[in-house]
Amino acid sequence: IHQLANQHVAAEDLLVSPLWRAEEAALPKPIEIYGHLHGELRLNSQGMDMTYIAERSPALEAALALRVQTPEEIQVEDVDPLMHALHAGQTRWDAVPVERRAEILTQAADLLEARQDKLLALIMREAHKTLADAVAELREAVDFCRYYAIQAKALMRKEALPGPTGETNSLSLRGRGVFVCISPWNFPLAIFAGQVVAALVTGNSVAAKPAEQTMAIARAFVELLWEAGVPRDVLALMPGAGETVGAALVGHPLTGGVVFTGSTGVARHIHQDLAAKEGPIVPLIAETGGINAMIVDSTALAEQVVDAVVASAFRSAGQRCSALRLLCVQEECAEEILTMLKGAMQELVIGPTIHYATDVGPVIDAEAQTNILAQIARVEQGGGRLLARCAWPPALLENAQVTDNSVALTMQDDQQRNLYFVAPCAYAITHVSQVREEIFGPVLQVVTWKAGQVDALVDAINALGFGLTLGVQTRIDGRAAHIAARSRCGNVYVNRNMIGAVVGVQPFGGEGLSGTGPKAGGPHYLLRMVAEQAVSINT
Ligand code: NAP
Repeated sequence: IHQLANQHVAAEDLLVSPLWRAEEAALPKPIEIYGHLHGELRLNSQGMDMTYIAERSPALEAALALRVQTPEEIQVEDVDPLMHALHAGQTRWDAVPVERRAEILTQAADLLEARQDKLLALIMREAHKTLADAVAELREAVDFCRYYAIQAKALMRKEALPGPTGETNSLSLRGRGVFVCISPWNFPLAIFAGQVVAALVTGNSVAAKPAEQTMAIARAFVELLWEAGVPRDVLALMPGAGETVGAALVGHPLTGGVVFTGSTGVARHIHQDLAAKEGPIVPLIAETGGINAMIVDSTALAEQVVDAVVASAFRSAGQRCSALRLLCVQEECAEEILTMLKGAMQELVIGPTIHYATDVGPVIDAEAQTNILAQIARVEQGGGRLLARCAWPPALLENAQVTDNSVALTMQDDQQRNLYFVAPCAYAITHVSQVREEIFGPVLQVVTWKAGQVDALVDAINALGFGLTLGVQTRIDGRAAHIAARSRCGNVYVNRNMIGAVVGVQPFGGEGLSGTGPKAGGPHYLLRMVAEQAVSINT
């Protein structure tokens, strides 16, 4: 992959990540991708970040024409019998050799690839992702299955511990019991899949609680895992509201562990609920939000900076935990970079994500739109000065409602469902500490900083308390390493964008208000899902 840096190559299979089949993407080939997705795979100078250019196939078109069928929600009273069934199933599942459990994950990965049309269409329809984002998400889910399968086989071998005691000592790992997996809507397949398969392959049974907005995608994946061989009494889908069904799962006496991805506020609730519970101490893995900054100094390449800012702040309508929220530009280059950024923002195409040309789709729902508008109002009240805002394309304005100040727009799609847009925008603020909350949408805040003050800047970013992603744009030798060492962020990206961590090679997750660790897609993740047992035999 690194040898291909800065080239455009046609790759054979859009759905395969560089991690798993890098060698297969080695040569430029005719553009005939994955049977029906025709396109081109672009590699950037790091070789890992990819932009997909794909034409849609008849099979994908047919899947997109279908209406999303949302599963029926369960009620709080359904939780207890389901948890008892999962508890009973776990004992048998834990006794299944890890090789067999890993094989089932690999089979699930194959099925994900085979069912791509249905899954891509679901992601595009239910989660309002562009085709490029949907492909990347599907690829990530495949990677989680294959990676955790490999990891589990290496990790869960019984280990002999020879030593000076004269006894036979060994250490083995096993599942903790029923793991409750609670996931957000913004990566409705990849995060849902990553949590669930990690817990399953380590011998746990799983109560899977997806976000209400994306339950159909979750159901499709659970059905696929059942088909791959996961028994039904080992994996149950628990569609329902977080405050009721989610809380009942967290509070259930048979819950052996919780993995949660979502907002910092809900993670805190869950932490408190678990702490207040009678019975065993239940471990929590929490992967939460971020106020992510990018530090740009005057040696950075302006074009690269602007490309990275646009992708990091506005792609997926800013609805990524890793997304850029706070751009910190050195005074000397601020005018040039901000002028270029305004120009680049005007080139973004806003629209329904089923349109191929769309760069920025709608936010997830009406509530998200309302929240983001309220947060923009707070930025303005706090002294934020509008630097740039994307204009609505004329085609979008037909049949759409536009709010007075043109920040938001609501329209119906071809299936008469409402789409809620927020115009990507950038605000100038005067100090890092003015940023008080994560805005989960296409809203960027910008500060400038003076030469010689980079340490103070990093300290101010650390003082926000979050620690998820950090971007650094510099050509000064040693500066990126210095900033990374001083920063309290889990993922630091240098001279590139800040999104799209690749499973296995860019383990993802933060610290502080951004989460407890371990990193998803990293070598230590599975360890947090197991119980360890040492046996010492006096021979
Ligand atoms: P959210 O509102 O916190 O919801 C996440 C999940 O928690 C949903 O399934 C939700 O259910 C459930 N939930 C809500 N209240 C609950 C409760 N009292 N007990 C148990 N479960 C409860 O987050 P979101 O809006 O879906 O996602 C956006 C957030 O996730 C952002 O802050 C983003 O930064 C963060 N995120 C972090 C990462 C990471 O890896 N660090 C990755 C992606 C997203 P319902 O939706 O059904 O109510």
